[in-house]
Amino acid sequence: MNYQLELEKKLEEIAKLDSKPKLLLHACCGPCSSYVLEYLNCYFDITILYYNPNIYPDTEYVRRRDELKNFLTKFKLKDTIKVMEVPYNPDDYYNAIKGKEKLGEKSSRCYECYKLRLNKSAQYAKEYNYDYFTTTLSISPYKVSAWINEIGSTLEKKYNIKYLYADFKKKNGYKRSLELSAEYGLYRQSYCGCKYSMEARNIQNKKED
Ligand code: SF4
Repeated sequence: MNYQLELEKKLEEIAKLDSKPKLLLHACCGPCSSYVLEYLNCYFDITILYYNPNIYPDTEYVRRRDELKNFLTKFKLKDTIKVMEVPYNPDDYYNAIKGKEKLGEKSSRCYECYKLRLNKSAQYAKEYNYDYFTTTLSISPYKVSAWINEIGSTLEKKYNIKYLYADFKKKNGYKRSLELSAEYGLYRQSYCGCKYSMEARNIQNKKED
């Protein structure tokens, strides 16, 4: 499926409505959110859900969350977009990926990590009566968009809440996020998020020294 095309068709439909639907947008950090918010803000009444128990260590979790809020302030969206946070509990992540710790990036460890975060987002969206839910995760070229959308599709049926199909890296989305990060001076992390991706980054850095 061409997820970008699906998104464009959906946005065309939404543009004809009298009012904006409510979208719960799972977000992992400021840089990934920047382009997605710029793109979707005129179509949806957006609430961000910050649920990222995968992020290690806790100082990094806080830094990414605060940079997201910092972007909203600088982009003048602070008063129109709410940020909801599910309290940080790294055990959610470690339980979800048990037995897969040693697998690398783009492995089934990552599949479980996407699923954990999307499942919470779908549950939250259903509980608080959103029209749609989706995630910023597909903007990263290091993540598997087909898996993200497959999980979204399963959860759409499980919770009876519409999932917004997307591949935000398309249409130069990733490039635009880099431009926005530079323009707004956003902190861009150098590893995906979990302690395993941090360790892999450190090994790579040592090799390059
Ligand atoms: S590498 Fe990224 S997506 Fe994969 S498990 Fe770690 S934080 Fe999650």
